Amino acid sequence: MSVVETVIQSNLKQILETIHLIARECGRTTAPRLVAVSKTKPSNLILECYQAGQKHFGENYVQELEEKGAELRDLQDIKWHYIGQMQSNKISKICAVPNLYCIETLDNEKHAQLLEKEMNKRGLKVKVLIQVNTSDEEQKGGLQPNEAKELGKFVDEQCAHLEFSGFMTIGSVAGSSMTPNPDFEKLREVRDDFAKEVGRGVEGFELSMGMSDDFETAIRQGSTNIRVGSKIFGPRLPKK
Ligand SMILES: *Cc1c(COP(=O)(O)O)cnc(C)c1O
Repeated sequence: MSVVETVIQSNLKQILETIHLIARECGRTTAPRLVAVSKTKPSNLILECYQAGQKHFGENYVQELEEKGAELRDLQDIKWHYIGQMQSNKISKICAVPNLYCIETLDNEKHAQLLEKEMNKRGLKVKVLIQVNTSDEEQKGGLQPNEAKELGKFVDEQCAHLEFSGFMTIGSVAGSSMTPNPDFEKLREVRDDFAKEVGRGVEGFELSMGMSDDFETAIRQGSTNIRVGSKIFGPRLPKK
């Protein structure tokens, strides 16, 4: 690592400090995981972040994930999260990415079956979160709460190579300035109901919620996995 800290490394440090501070304030014994969302940003900036200790990175576009996964394949403890919309014809490409750790955006059974088949073929396992459309917006991916719980059970019971790990939401723009955030409330309810229905503890299931503008609130509402992009890597240019 260079002796002089880069802007990205300093951003990362600040976010991590905030995360730990809030987690402590809430009396939580473990701080949520930080996923650094690197979409549209090049591998050399990911490497900067990695060299400052960050291991989890999130990507939205399959082609970018493939390219960066290949470029950074020697970093054996890097952990990739796929956080974009799923498409049947891209699932095999996602599964082929070295060090794929978690798919956060599963929202239908057909894709679950395809994922299971691909991971089985490779003899590997991957964590899976079910995306919930907590804000009920047409343009957003994700399932309604009841459907999400059903799919969670399907993955949990029927997919040996998928490790069902919890639920994810993006939430509405309006909700992101509210405290408490109603989308985060809803996701927590889905998780708590699910845990009750399957007779397990809520600690066994993740809540992936909170981004640059609302991660502090998300932590206070129980997030275990926050996804922060622009506050680490700077603003993104609009995708062409
Ligand atoms: C882009 C993106 C993020 C990060 O957004 P920022 O506002 O830049 O922190 C998090 N989650 C998902 C699903 C995203 O697409």
